[in-house]
Amino acid sequence: MKTTIVGGGITGLTTAIALKKLGIETKVYEKTPQLGETGAGIMLQPNAMKVLNHIGIGEAICDVGKSIDQFEIADQQLKPYRQLKTNFDTTKIIAIHRARLHKVLYDALPSDVVSLNQEYLSHQQNENLVSVEFSNAKVETQILLGADGIHSNLAKQLFNAKSRYSGQTCWRGIAHMSLPADLAHRGKECWGENIRFGFVSISDTEVYWFAVAMAPEHQKDEPAERKAMLMEKYKNFHPLIHEIIQNTDETKMIRNDISDLERLNCWYKDSICLLGDAAHATTPNMGQGACQGIEDAYYISRALSSNDNLRAAFLQFEQERRKKVDHVVNNSWRFGQMAHRPFGRRMVKTIMKLSPTSVLKNQLKKVYSVDGLS
Ligand SMILES: Cc1cc2nc3c(=O)[nH]c(=O)nc-3n(C[C@H](O)[C@H](O)[C@H](O)COP(=O)(O)OP(=O)(O)OC[C@H]3O[C@@H](n4cnc5c(N)ncnc54)[C@H](O)[C@@H]3O)c2cc1C
Repeated sequence: MKTTIVGGGITGLTTAIALKKLGIETKVYEKTPQLGETGAGIMLQPNAMKVLNHIGIGEAICDVGKSIDQFEIADQQLKPYRQLKTNFDTTKIIAIHRARLHKVLYDALPSDVVSLNQEYLSHQQNENLVSVEFSNAKVETQILLGADGIHSNLAKQLFNAKSRYSGQTCWRGIAHMSLPADLAHRGKECWGENIRFGFVSISDTEVYWFAVAMAPEHQKDEPAERKAMLMEKYKNFHPLIHEIIQNTDETKMIRNDISDLERLNCWYKDSICLLGDAAHATTPNMGQGACQGIEDAYYISRALSSNDNLRAAFLQFEQERRKKVDHVVNNSWRFGQMAHRPFGRRMVKTIMKLSPTSVLKNQLKKVYSVDGLS
């Protein structure tokens, strides 16, 4: 069946690779003139890596990323609340530059699969075909998959989707430096008074970092003033964090407000189904947004290849995904809200200190498991 994907982000490209593996003809339409993201890193947790291994690109990703044994919540002097191996799974966590991840995904597809400069504008459902209008093409397709991100035009048109601001903003960057040997395979998120700073190595000479603070929505700042502003904000944090900020090109720092998507009651209609952030964007507090999009790629391709009836395939996909997605979105939101409140921080600290290892391990296992993959 002819399948069209709107959006060449992590979800759209991974879905195209997964469908190609099953012999389903697919085209991706991406609105930007160039593919790929720059200026930040990303953590691919075991659930995502299981899917990426399954579709044959895990090794290529490991080759250009860095394996991480532990990612821990710590205080502002880097002291962990609880020393705990987070990678209980035999599959590795990989921290990687986003541009490198995009390149691996793009290179795994034949060159004619992705069309750039094609903004999705509108669609019309006619019997079993959807006519889709892009900025530079008109397409007829049997299946339309919306992977166009949290501000998805398709999700707005179909379900009046709305984002929900968390009250927090985030700066991200890549510092050109090496971390001390004991942190080479260990990431940290350090909590201070209503501010957080996280970092992880993505190569021997690059450290990806993020800094989170409360702020009104849509505030802007001058790129040239960011370094000084962050140095002042994080002045009570460990000197390593100052070194990370100092070693970053401030013109390449990124600022985004942190939002998720208000829960959609359904992800599909007629011949159209939403995936990834377009269906269920989450706040990044569990580092699971893209991982969930990658899982979608696996489950939607499996559902489409095992059902002749499209409605049955979409229903199966949503039934298989809903529980975990809700768990991630809700817990990630709660975790982020707790991190920026004194009572919440005390509670997280106590839970982390007192919970038996088996409980913490089981919580992670729930998120890391993918049906049929190990
Ligand atoms: C601060 C921060 C840190 C994060 N850290 C992590 C992490 O460590 N691990 C993790 O798993 N996740 C993380 N995430 C979440 C992750 O970035 C997203 O969940 C992921 O990028 C979503 O991928 P996607 O392909 O679904 O959507 P997007 O990345 O938004 O991609 C959508 C694509 O569609 C295109 N598009 C949009 N509209 C149209 C249109 N009308 N027509 C055609 N194309 C269109 C866009 O240009 C884009 O290429 C983080 C997010 C933030 C904000």
